[in-house]
Amino acid sequence: MMRILFALTLMVVLSGALGAQVGDTRSVLASIDARAEAYTDIAMKIWSFAEVGYQETRSSALLQEQLADAGFTVSAGVAEIPTAFVATWGSGQPVIGIVGEFDALPGLSQAASPERKPIVENGPGHGCGHHLFGTASTAAAIAVKDWMAANKRGGTLKFFGTPAEEGGSGKVYMIRAGLFDDVDAVVAWHAGDRNAVSASSTLANITAKVRFRGVSAHASSAPHRGRSALDGVEAMNAMVNLMREHIPSDARIHYVITNGGQAPNVVPDFAEVYYYARHHDMRVLDGLWERITNAAHGAALGTDTKVEIDITGSVWNVLPNEHLARVMHSHLEAVGGFEYTPAERGFAESIRTTLDGTLPAIDTTNQIMAPQGGVGSASTDMGDVSWRVPTVQMTAATWVPGTPAHSWQAVAAGGMSIGAKGMIVAAKTMALTVIDLMSNPTHIQRARAEFDKSRGSDFKYSTRLADRKPALDYRKNP
Ligand SMILES: [Zn+2]
Ligand SMILES: [Zn+2]
Repeated sequence: MMRILFALTLMVVLSGALGAQVGDTRSVLASIDARAEAYTDIAMKIWSFAEVGYQETRSSALLQEQLADAGFTVSAGVAEIPTAFVATWGSGQPVIGIVGEFDALPGLSQAASPERKPIVENGPGHGCGHHLFGTASTAAAIAVKDWMAANKRGGTLKFFGTPAEEGGSGKVYMIRAGLFDDVDAVVAWHAGDRNAVSASSTLANITAKVRFRGVSAHASSAPHRGRSALDGVEAMNAMVNLMREHIPSDARIHYVITNGGQAPNVVPDFAEVYYYARHHDMRVLDGLWERITNAAHGAALGTDTKVEIDITGSVWNVLPNEHLARVMHSHLEAVGGFEYTPAERGFAESIRTTLDGTLPAIDTTNQIMAPQGGVGSASTDMGDVSWRVPTVQMTAATWVPGTPAHSWQAVAAGGMSIGAKGMIVAAKTMALTVIDLMSNPTHIQRARAEFDKSRGSDFKYSTRLADRKPALDYRKNP
């Protein structure tokens, strides 16, 4: 009780310190609490659907249904992507966006159990917590809408249902379609192992499937008549691996061979390698990508094969906004973290026996960390959004402290009450943040001024996905 009183007092003090009073927001928090069970059911449905990028038909429809029932106008299938949507409520200024993701990852199927136990062997799973991401964002959007309606506030609230974050660059196509053009600020979050607003950047990332085509022949009786597509892949990889010595040491290049032929006695006429390249500055990465492209062409020339480079994804490094981070942090502090029940604590302790390295304390779910700067090692298409619109994001402790993203341990905790509790922390913090932005035009002005300064006056957004159709089949291997 003392904690709740303290949190409420802090909230009033902080909202007063940061701008105009937003009125009594207790009803907003209460409305999210009242629906917490319903939102948990929705998140767990999406967790069990575990639909991968651009195939999130049921997940997308379920979230659309919640928003439509709450009175939002839903445009589905936007930006030539069947599972992308925008749900709008209200009119006029300001226009605040909330982003929700919902795609799963291949190969991470896992029960909500503290030991490794796939539900479907090699099936997909929510290793990045996007089932919680989409649901908490929906909960926040509906709570803000209810508050706007009750307080007769003007302004436009837009929920962006963004598919295929994991390597599909869904948001990039939504930006290209102009869907973010009139938005003043974007609020988002991500599943994580701690409660913290993010003031950090990420790595820009370009991904491509490089396909070589040669001529098949009997590998023993007529090898001279064949031209091996796999040779093309191997020659390219050899050149890229030599290149590693002569690139910035903080760049990352990784690949998997998704098709290397079918049988050793047939010279493969088709082979494919799937590349990711990353750096913390897209402008550096773009030059690096040019060299990787040259290696592909060089490999084709040297092996007498043909090459096609299909760029399936390209995302910018995130441009942080410190002003918005401060605003969101004040609300995260007001909302606070959560305690484990004895059963959740037991689950967390079991999970932690499977994690390597030095782990943060088990009860950090109850703490709010200070926003941290620097550059994380992941990549996200939120990066492109952040160069288009001032953007703020946070993480909530939906995973047991010490859990890395894209792990079975993340799927496990995200599929039970620990994930659900973290999701509610995120929903409440996002709702309060959006209400603050709706109520205080100075926040938008200050965020915009910082954004203009960070981007620089000569900044021009560009993407290597400029003229391709969304890679709706990027999850299918040949
Ligand atoms: Zn991820
Ligand atoms: Zn993610």
